[in-house]
Amino acid sequence: MIWDALETDLEHLSTAGLLRRRRVLDTPCGPEALVEGRRLTAFCSNDYLGLANHPALITAVQEAAARWGVGSGASHVVSGHLRPHAELEERLAAFTGFEQALYFSTGYMANLAIVPALLERNDAVFADKLNHASLIDAAQLARAEHIRYPHGDLEHLATRLARSSARRKLILTDAVFSMDGDLAPLPELFELAERFDAWLVVDDAHGFGVLGPGGRGSLAHFNLSPSPRLILMGTLGKAAGVSGAFVAGDRRVIAWLAQRARPYIFTTASSPVIAAALLTSLKLIAAGDARRTHLQRLIDHLQTGLAGLPWPLLPSPTAIQPLRVGDNHATLHLTESLFARDLWVPAIRPPTVPVGSARLRISLSAAHSFAQVNELISALRELAANAGDNGEVCDG
Ligand SMILES: *Cc1c(COP(=O)(O)O)cnc(C)c1O
Repeated sequence: MIWDALETDLEHLSTAGLLRRRRVLDTPCGPEALVEGRRLTAFCSNDYLGLANHPALITAVQEAAARWGVGSGASHVVSGHLRPHAELEERLAAFTGFEQALYFSTGYMANLAIVPALLERNDAVFADKLNHASLIDAAQLARAEHIRYPHGDLEHLATRLARSSARRKLILTDAVFSMDGDLAPLPELFELAERFDAWLVVDDAHGFGVLGPGGRGSLAHFNLSPSPRLILMGTLGKAAGVSGAFVAGDRRVIAWLAQRARPYIFTTASSPVIAAALLTSLKLIAAGDARRTHLQRLIDHLQTGLAGLPWPLLPSPTAIQPLRVGDNHATLHLTESLFARDLWVPAIRPPTVPVGSARLRISLSAAHSFAQVNELISALRELAANAGDNGEVCDG
């Protein structure tokens, strides 16, 4: 039968230690999760500021539902563009300093919108090799040439740009790499974009709300001002604590996306209650210095606490703190050992990360306490000591 091959493929995933498992939570997103009847301390979410379950957002949703209903009923370009959506776009533009912003249902869709709308067959995308899957898909969906440069390798990128005869060029990068936590060299990338008359598209899924003054994101962190050649994509389901995404940029870029980007046009506008929650979330982000300071202290504390383990922390200054293990099974084993101690840290394996670089992706949130981070540090130190006693080898 036609599905027999899938059965075999699934078994292969399982024996390779690549099967993903969904766990059902019986609590809202937060540092404490009730899963399968057990209370876990979770280091999994991208809710960096701890806003996903914030009372002000809950109230905003309740009030918006009473005022605007729940569904938007149509695409933004038909009749689904309600006042909260319009207001949100204005606030996002003002917050990021760009001329205009366009709101999308998800970051995945926003990325799929940008690249194919701007590029055609004789154009070229220059993409960092560690870019998020949605950017890889976006480049593939555009019919342009797809050139992937080694992670952060500006020289290689400059050579490829110089050699290219593409009509339009677009440099595509994560601002904060989602599985590594490090930052792209945005000022240098911008310089290259200027030198070679290219666009620079920055995916700030993990910087928006967290980095830069007022949480305005990675561009603000690097002191990069808006420019017509800069296109900023920010997601709103991570630090902003809700869902959705936006693209901010020059008014002509935004106007073109609203006309031509298929993931914008051919989908129902997300609920107005989401847009309303996001309006409140933007205020909390702007006033969120205390949250960001606490988060930074947790990051420093974790780094100090995990120094010298057999599994190195990758050099990340952000809330994403990956502990590199290497082998898929060893990574799964470590995750399971933590789980047995009521600590939930996701194992990240290929194809999300390159083969041989499986890791635990510890993600911190301003909602965590020092005590919770200490639990994780003690458990990992104990497991490292035990692994040493048993002569277990972990590559990495
Ligand atoms: C999460 C993420 C996305 C996708 O955003 P969603 O809103 O979750 O669809 C895009 N890019 C990066 C770098 C991400 O981490």
